[in-house]
Amino acid sequence: MNSELRDLYQEVIVDHSKRPRNFRKLASGHSAEGYNPLCGDRVTVYVDAANDIVRDVSFEGCGCAISTASASVMTEVVKGKSRSEARKLFDTFHAMVTKGPQAIEGRDVGKLGVFAGVSEFPSRVKCAVLAWHTFEAALKGEDAVPVSTE
Ligand code: ZN
Repeated sequence: MNSELRDLYQEVIVDHSKRPRNFRKLASGHSAEGYNPLCGDRVTVYVDAANDIVRDVSFEGCGCAISTASASVMTEVVKGKSRSEARKLFDTFHAMVTKGPQAIEGRDVGKLGVFAGVSEFPSRVKCAVLAWHTFEAALKGEDAVPVSTE
């Protein structure tokens, strides 16, 4: 990754962590809580899904810049998607942050690409995937079971 691109990605992550999008509760739908004990990140993800479509998604919580930015970008990219499309995005995102950008060569990651650099910092991977695991749990309606990345 060249340094200009890296700086741009860094700016996007900082922006999302300072001004997270869809940072609110939803009046309807399901929610799930996630916790990353390695870093102390906590997130609650709210999902309103009907007819197989993620109609609305939001989150609240407090954590490091990566966890907050990841949750923020996630809400933007999964909104309006079907469950299987959202699942596919998570698979792609997971492969990118665990195995590196070369693992998803040719797949369109859109905005999620700003997190490609996370793969170089294994200790931050759990920060990046926390919101996604929590989103999956909320989508399944598992309100009662807290998600932990451990
Ligand atoms: Zn973190």
